[in-house]
Amino acid sequence: AKNDGIRASMKYKDTPEGDKKCADCNLFVPGASATAPGGCKVFPNDTEISPNGYCIAWAKKA
Ligand code: SF4
Repeated sequence: AKNDGIRASMKYKDTPEGDKKCADCNLFVPGASATAPGGCKVFPNDTEISPNGYCIAWAKKA
């Protein structure tokens, strides 16, 4: 499922922003594999976050 409301407010996109992407974000919840879609701690009920996506809440993984 996708959460269209928060996707819009966070300006989510399915492509990286330079070298910033969900896979390297502290808030990403990885899926079944490194390339599978996952979740995000600030995107409730969204299970289709791309590891190669990006949004304005991006925060470098510690
Ligand atoms: Fe991706 Fe944004 Fe979630 Fe980080 S906060 S994992 S950049 S959707």
